[in-house]
Amino acid sequence: MNDPRRYVVIGGGLAGLAAAVWLAEAGKQVTLLERRGRLGGRTHALEVAPLRDIADNGQHVIASGYEHLFRYLTSVGTRQYVSFPQRGVLRWPGGRTVTMGTKGFPAVRALFGAHPDATPADRVRAANATVRLGWQCLRQPADLADLTTDQWLRRLGMPETAREALWDWLALGIAAEPVRQESAKVFADVLATGIRLGVKRLRPVTIGYPTTDLDTLFVSGAQRVFDRHGVTVKHRAVARRIRIENGAVTGVELADGAVQPADAVVCAVPNSYIGGLLDDLPEHDEIYSAADKLGYTPIVSTNLYLDRPLGTQAAMEALIGGAGVIDEVFDRQRMHGRGTLNGWLYCLTTSGAYEQIHKPHHAVVDEQMALLRRYYPDAADAKVLHAQVVPMPRATFSQVVGTDGLRPSQRTSVPTLVLAGDWTRTDWSATMESAAQSAARAVDLLLALPAPISAVERVTSSGD
Ligand SMILES: Cc1cc2nc3c(=O)[nH]c(=O)nc-3n(C[C@H](O)[C@H](O)[C@H](O)COP(=O)(O)OP(=O)(O)OC[C@H]3O[C@@H](n4cnc5c(N)ncnc54)[C@H](O)[C@@H]3O)c2cc1C
Repeated sequence: MNDPRRYVVIGGGLAGLAAAVWLAEAGKQVTLLERRGRLGGRTHALEVAPLRDIADNGQHVIASGYEHLFRYLTSVGTRQYVSFPQRGVLRWPGGRTVTMGTKGFPAVRALFGAHPDATPADRVRAANATVRLGWQCLRQPADLADLTTDQWLRRLGMPETAREALWDWLALGIAAEPVRQESAKVFADVLATGIRLGVKRLRPVTIGYPTTDLDTLFVSGAQRVFDRHGVTVKHRAVARRIRIENGAVTGVELADGAVQPADAVVCAVPNSYIGGLLDDLPEHDEIYSAADKLGYTPIVSTNLYLDRPLGTQAAMEALIGGAGVIDEVFDRQRMHGRGTLNGWLYCLTTSGAYEQIHKPHHAVVDEQMALLRRYYPDAADAKVLHAQVVPMPRATFSQVVGTDGLRPSQRTSVPTLVLAGDWTRTDWSATMESAAQSAARAVDLLLALPAPISAVERVTSSGD
């Protein structure tokens, strides 16, 4: 059936890309508006100019439970670029390591106390606390939303060794906030999603990574879909206000004064960019206020080119106790199978980087190298050939105590206007899966709209 309606997607990050791809696959006329000169939003490749090398704006990992993200990758033809290693490594100062498996005994050991110094009593306490934690994720105590993850783990009696080796690090990875301010409810909700998916599929949720740069993974394939389906992409098109008249969307006003006509809109911008866009929507005050309260949290990523290998044992290594300087080290040689002509590339991540975000880049690199030398004996004499620091002050919305329940639904009071983006309400924290899931829900809402009168008449008269 021919649908004459004009669908406009605002924002070319993952949520907007997914919405545009799926609307195009459904045969709709789509225009994508993106304020920048490139697509990809917070997930994109970066050229390291002096080396003519391609790195990313920050290492992104992918959970095996990311259903909608995999649907997107299948749509754009890049599903093959994600790998799930059988193991990850936890590393302590001095180079001591523990391998965490995702299956069988190593997986159980990781859950019940991976710390090499854990005593048998610690392991029993960790096992007890872990079972209680799992139960409380599914049957949440009424006050969970008032607790930090730190307070919750204490109340569960999780021993320090298990916290150091697994839980504090996992919590930081899930919500990008230190456990002393992260909302226990956000952490528990994501774990509950993981438990449910694990039970449904009879295998645990594990962590994988892209084996190529983020543009190849997310953007190039989308561009091919757009070319195939005639999607118009407008770069440097800054949306200012979505026009709504008589309860229906009519267009999108742009910063240059132009108006993009629209019969349906997916607004897929982050919470920090929503101000003004929804002024015509009756409930705009409530959404703006939620967007404001959700705020943001910083991540600092560094692409570090060294003159020698660090001596990693796995593609992904967590530096235990290194939080605040580096929480994870990603070995791009192991991940992408890349050569070492430009040196050995390591991508370092600092989540909840409230201190690092204000430091000059050379200070960030010095601090990170000092830490790497403590954790990797092979790094003692390593030289930095090149370093690219990527500070992202608004990396994700914040998931501290008090943010639970704020995230708005994709549905608005105007049926032809839907919201998308990682910050809208989904089963996940601020992740790529949240962006993709929000897009799937937004698109489903638009595809469920009644057909326009003219199309219904055409079908009736042709007897289809
Ligand atoms: C360093 C870093 C590491 C991360 N690591 C992980 C990870 O390991 N795993 C994971 O799952 N997630 C991770 N994330 C989170 C993930 O990247 C985001 O959740 C996801 O990319 C958000 O997608 P989005 O489409 O909702 O928003 P965005 O990617 O921000 O896209 C929004 C787009 O809207 C555009 N826009 C804004 N305002 C307007 C306007 N007025 N008009 C037109 N366009 C506009 C923006 O330019 C942008 O392109 C990480 C994020 C960062 C920054």
